[in-house]
Amino acid sequence: MTDNVCTQCGYEHTVIHRKYNGQRLCSSCFKKSIEAKVLKTIKKQKLVTKGDKVLVGLSGGKDSVALLKILNILKEKRIIELEAVTIDEGIAGYREEGVRIAVDVANELNVKHHIVSLNDRYNFTIDKIMKLEEKEEHPQNACTYCGVFRRQIFNQTAREVGATKLATGHNLDDETQSILMNYLEGNVNNMVRIGYKTEARDKRFTPKIKPLREIPEKEIGLYVLESGFEVHFDGCPYAHESFRMEIGDFLRKTTLQHPTIMYSTLNGFEKIKPSIKRDYMKNNTEKPNKTCIKCGEPSSQDICKSCSFIEKIHERLDMEE
Ligand SMILES: [Zn+2]
Ligand SMILES: [Zn+2]
Repeated sequence: MTDNVCTQCGYEHTVIHRKYNGQRLCSSCFKKSIEAKVLKTIKKQKLVTKGDKVLVGLSGGKDSVALLKILNILKEKRIIELEAVTIDEGIAGYREEGVRIAVDVANELNVKHHIVSLNDRYNFTIDKIMKLEEKEEHPQNACTYCGVFRRQIFNQTAREVGATKLATGHNLDDETQSILMNYLEGNVNNMVRIGYKTEARDKRFTPKIKPLREIPEKEIGLYVLESGFEVHFDGCPYAHESFRMEIGDFLRKTTLQHPTIMYSTLNGFEKIKPSIKRDYMKNNTEKPNKTCIKCGEPSSQDICKSCSFIEKIHERLDMEE
């Protein structure tokens, strides 16, 4: 057999050689295999049930585009309802492109699409916050703010549209990075929360699911390209050299010589997770659940993290004027 023959159908043009299982696949068999694998994960892990309304966080990046396209298969079979939300953080020269791609993809798949901008909702953008931070002696990085605000907007939008599940495009690389990072940092509390679905401490949060969790990042990029979608590859201008990036580099390098390493990391973690959870959670009394007096979201304090950030930023912006 030559190097360029599909191991599934024999077609003489392949787009991928999977070192972790020896498969060589043509474009069509490759796309089918990704879809089959994701649908299998969804079924096996019971990520959706018939009648669910799933809201996808659609950034316009490859992961969320792939996720929407695959979940659309379940929409077309009338198993789930599907909507998408794109959050415009207000990052000039970066976010516009992602929003444009998100609009195109949602349009093409005929998925109802919501765009929520930080500026409309909070009356500031990430660009504005970063201008404030530049003047600080110890500036916070953008991800700190971005993460908190996006989480709040996701949860609020889910409630507004009546979604029963929130789906995100986390892939195999993201998940193994999280496992390794939290292990190396000794952050058991975060570690036990990594999984196919979030088991939220508070029932008022819409459960989050990660259907792409078993697909390597590289294959998601290829899937999107082979499906004829445009991909937004530019990185966020505020991304900084983080511990996550170091771990990501390490894992990618290790994968070259040990092609199954990410799978074994994920599978090993899933095996030990129940024990860690059982033994660890015994000594961990959860904080009481409150409701944020500002926004009505579940919170461990009277005012949630997001609302207290918003207050402080408005104070700082007012002082500027
Ligand atoms: Zn084939
Ligand atoms: Zn709040």
